[in-house]
Amino acid sequence: MKNPNGLFSLNRLRLNRIKRILKQVNQFADYMASLSNEQLQHQTVLFKERLVNGETLDDLLPEAFAAIREADKRILGMFPYDVQVMGGIVLHQGNIAEMKTGEGKTLTATMPLYLNALAGKPVMLVTNNGYLALRDKEEMGPVYEFMGLSVSTPVSKDDDEMVKATEKQAFYKADIIYTTNGSLGFDYLGDNLVDSKNKKYMCPLSYAIIDEIDAVLLDSAQTPLVISGSPKVQSNLYTMTNEFILTLVENEDYKCDEDRSNVWLTRKGIQEAEKFFGLKNIYTKENFQLVRNIVLALRANTLLERDEDYAVWKGKVTLLDKTTGRLLHGMKLGSGQHQALEAKERVELSADTKTMASITFQNLFKMFDKLAGMSGTAKVDESEFIETYGMSVVVIPTNRKSIRKDLPDSVYRNLPDKLYASLDYVKKIHATGQPVLVAVGSVDMSELYSELLLREGIPHSVLNAYNAAKEALMIKEAGQIGAVTVATAMAGRGTDIKLGEGVAQLGGLAVIGTERMSSKRTDLQLRGRSGRQGDPGVTKFFVSLEDDVVVKYGPKWVEKYYLEGEQKLPVKMPKALKGFKFIRLVNEAQLSSDSKGRASRETTQQFDESIQIQRQILYRARDELLLKDDKLAVNLKEIAQEVVQRFLQQYETYTKEDIMRFILDNINYRFTDTDVLDKVTSKDDLGNFLIKSFLTEIARKRAVLKDDHKFFIFQKIAILKAVDECWIDQIDNLQLLKTAVAGRRSAQKNPIYEYHHEALLTYRLMQEAIKDNMMRYLALSYVRQEDDDVIVYFP
Ligand code: ADP
Repeated sequence: MKNPNGLFSLNRLRLNRIKRILKQVNQFADYMASLSNEQLQHQTVLFKERLVNGETLDDLLPEAFAAIREADKRILGMFPYDVQVMGGIVLHQGNIAEMKTGEGKTLTATMPLYLNALAGKPVMLVTNNGYLALRDKEEMGPVYEFMGLSVSTPVSKDDDEMVKATEKQAFYKADIIYTTNGSLGFDYLGDNLVDSKNKKYMCPLSYAIIDEIDAVLLDSAQTPLVISGSPKVQSNLYTMTNEFILTLVENEDYKCDEDRSNVWLTRKGIQEAEKFFGLKNIYTKENFQLVRNIVLALRANTLLERDEDYAVWKGKVTLLDKTTGRLLHGMKLGSGQHQALEAKERVELSADTKTMASITFQNLFKMFDKLAGMSGTAKVDESEFIETYGMSVVVIPTNRKSIRKDLPDSVYRNLPDKLYASLDYVKKIHATGQPVLVAVGSVDMSELYSELLLREGIPHSVLNAYNAAKEALMIKEAGQIGAVTVATAMAGRGTDIKLGEGVAQLGGLAVIGTERMSSKRTDLQLRGRSGRQGDPGVTKFFVSLEDDVVVKYGPKWVEKYYLEGEQKLPVKMPKALKGFKFIRLVNEAQLSSDSKGRASRETTQQFDESIQIQRQILYRARDELLLKDDKLAVNLKEIAQEVVQRFLQQYETYTKEDIMRFILDNINYRFTDTDVLDKVTSKDDLGNFLIKSFLTEIARKRAVLKDDHKFFIFQKIAILKAVDECWIDQIDNLQLLKTAVAGRRSAQKNPIYEYHHEALLTYRLMQEAIKDNMMRYLALSYVRQEDDDVIVYFP
């Protein structure tokens, strides 16, 4: 293989280094094989001792890899190949191992997981699919257990079932954890919402290997995890703004980016809004909610497409995983976007809830001390992995040479021509008995293609969002003689397609792409389903100038090709377009789609920076509060001084009513002794009086609770409540802010700059609000002791 960037030779250099370590691993093979089971198991104890005595994981690698490799052989009957050991070394070094489908990534991971678990902190294998996490843990678990380490899967078997907190504590104590990015993210957030130390369960984030790392970190980068909580007051703005948007005209009243990733009102659109809602100026503080709802409705109607971004399923708007086409049950778009979609689709609006916690996968995984990844297709995005995560991609050679044939693309003028030609191709292959996997770009296309096949009398299975349950089973069947499977982009990713009897002689699995996908990586992923472990196979893509990626990212002039054509299926075999320029055009369109994807991930990342910093500070403070058992992390008197000071700065002079109000709202709602207020004449006096009253209230609680420890618990509960309430409001604010600034494009401002600026302002306000709340909750709450428990009622 030639590589114009010289990356290949760099890869060879890296491989040579890795091969030197491999050699050392191989040197221990005979020794490990000579040990009895007990002696082999005892290696774990010896390794741990050596770590305690100052050796490093790198020092131990050759022996530890050799030991677990031998255990793999004894327990699973599989001895990791040399290339798998090389992959394992890459993973241990915190990089990405590119290993093709079927090369045995699951087994590869046993080596670095075992080695790193020896250090005593839990290590994780993260996939993007619960089924795989459970399966891999079942299959690989016995090896670790044999070697004296524990394994767990904190993933629920069924979508609706929640894992209990006590179970979670046990799960996260295991040496090796198989989980999904979703479960891990939710658990991380959930762990930071608990209200006492003994409910915390999360382990330190030390080492994770991410399976299909490109799917997890790149494809899912745009969907942050969100935990929603307390419902907000439902507004009828969703329906109203949706009606308003329907009156607008694209390019006159609003404009979209070329790739439809952003939309904003034009000056005319703003005027229309002001007319529609009878307002002078929509961009005022009072109309913040309205503007936000307009933006949400506009996005719902222009950027989000039914059956591509979401589906309407049993009367509900359900998100679709773009790459797999899977329905994402239980996941919702945050900050009202979901409700806006519901208004667009005219289904019942679900409760609009506050976002209580949220995190992106990028930021979740950046918190690990060491991160590694595996994928069949990561090299094409290496620069992004290096820049964002500091991980390079090492291409591991396949165990057996690949003999798959990747045929050149055929480009057609328009969609009907392409469909005709690809269908004809599928028919011919199918007639020979060779199994065919037809890869389509959308759920719509899967249905259309299915209809065409049906018309031809070709039996087939369809794998799209609507029948994900059977996914793994169907993918397994896809390699049998005569099988035809229509699947959306990466449905069933991670499940191997094994060839049935006699299929190799027929030429193996044929993968027919019916369009080039929005990312080169996805194309490679699809081709990779064929020709595993030295099997024969063939792949070919059919493309038209009317395909999504060309229309969105290609030059304008191609329109004339497909607009002139007939928009129905041709009667005789259409001719493919001749000339390299068409192939180049498609390649360039895909490149541009890839770079847009990358840019928008970068934007998401930039937007998320503020929230990430704030979240880290807050979670740390929260933990400090939660974990300390004897001393409060804050000084109550100082807090009271600050709150009182802020109150005193509000006015020049204070009436008795002003002071009364403050006391009733913040210190003591039974306060009646107004005479005493006559004695405070200066601001200084007033300040001292208020602080003293606060401390008296606190002392009263101490008297009720009788013992210091209980008093301490009470204070902790009150402070935590103050922090959490403000933080939840803050997250919700930041989400709203993001939508609001996105709509400010027309005003020629830089939305990211504005966002960070306002995020910082609101953060400072939040800090003040937390202290206000602390004072109120400590002073105004009612506290009682019941047996050994402290019961607190908040105002
Ligand atoms: P990948 O995730 O890389 O696509 P899998 O982990 O699903 O591949 O493994 C593919 C198949 O190869 C599995 O059936 C596995 O049991 C088998 N396999 C992997 N490594 C070995 C090995 N060293 N010896 C024998 N079989 C292996």
